[in-house]
Amino acid sequence: MYRSQVLDCKTNTRSLNFSGGPGALPESVLDEAQRAIGEVPGTGQSVLGISHRSDWFRDVVAETEENFRMLLDLPGHYRVLFLQGGGTLQFSMVPMTLLRGSNWAAEYLHTGYWSGKAISEARKEGPVRVAWSGAAEGFTRLPDPDEIRFSRNAAYLHYVSNETVEGLQFDEPQGLENVPRVCDMSSDFMSRPMDIERFALVYAHAQKNLGPAGVTVVVLRDDVLESVPEGLPAMLDYREHVSAGSIYNTPPVFSIYVTMLVSRWLRDEIGGLGAMAAINRRKAEVLYQTIDASGGFYRGHADPGSRSQMNVAMTLPSEDLERKFLKMATAAGFYGLAGHRTLGGIRASLYNAVTVEAVEALCSFMRFFQDCQPGEAR
Ligand code: PMP
Repeated sequence: MYRSQVLDCKTNTRSLNFSGGPGALPESVLDEAQRAIGEVPGTGQSVLGISHRSDWFRDVVAETEENFRMLLDLPGHYRVLFLQGGGTLQFSMVPMTLLRGSNWAAEYLHTGYWSGKAISEARKEGPVRVAWSGAAEGFTRLPDPDEIRFSRNAAYLHYVSNETVEGLQFDEPQGLENVPRVCDMSSDFMSRPMDIERFALVYAHAQKNLGPAGVTVVVLRDDVLESVPEGLPAMLDYREHVSAGSIYNTPPVFSIYVTMLVSRWLRDEIGGLGAMAAINRRKAEVLYQTIDASGGFYRGHADPGSRSQMNVAMTLPSEDLERKFLKMATAAGFYGLAGHRTLGGIRASLYNAVTVEAVEALCSFMRFFQDCQPGEAR
């Protein structure tokens, strides 16, 4: 009975995708990508077999960059790169570029699982100072500004704007203005407007809000290129990618193509990042209200002041109930709700392409599930 209610709000037989990533993509993008697998109009080729040296693909890269520039209001002294290696490779490329030749330590905020990964990779390149850590509190909150001990001088500050596993999100850029800011925005890039000029380098893999896995977007300020030490392997040297226009070697053509389609969708169907942010706020509100109204049946992992609009991590009264919830949710047409393997519990990811209707359907399923549990009254 419940399944039909959920399926009513869908246009096809796919289950509703709440996965932590790769995640949901817009329906119109999936339709167009499907057509392009058959043939990209005007080329006589499938997008999966077309040359990365074709004029068509050069135009795809150029348009993707142009759309990003427009959406982010990027000034001319920032470069946009489409790289491989995921967010994980940036954990190394950033310190290779900015820490190797520096006289200062790099400063990191340790706010969860992914910033922890970034810290251990940076330590392989040089000295790292952790300006604040939430480890002792189980990464349940982000720091208040006056708790962080920033140094006057640092090679750079690195932080993660949205901790995907724990569901913690910063609102404001962190750090001192005179220290170059580097931010891993893998799970909230392009989900809301941002002031790029407050950052030296921002990176985000595509598979949350931008497209399929395979491509990682790096936006960097020109002066970062001056810090690249000589002798790096070419693939790890941002300058090589800048001069090759992101086609240094064979790039993931399909992923970049779909990322272009998503950037068009953001521009034309959504109407830009301000409009996207309003939709994302609404989705998060609806879900957090459901959690807060459950009388403690659903418990959010994050402290209310640090809650993420992208990833909502929560627990139920027992692991047994969580298993039951996941099983019933799958049967009811919801996908990807298991928490990250390191944290357990439940996690609903509300990336750009997840609709308000999908979140409302999830919330009504959550209420339905709670009502079905004897002795767990609201
Ligand atoms: N940073 C963040 C914030 C992430 O959420 C992830 C993965 N989910 C990564 C980095 C690692 O990215 P990748 O798997 O693309 O290497």
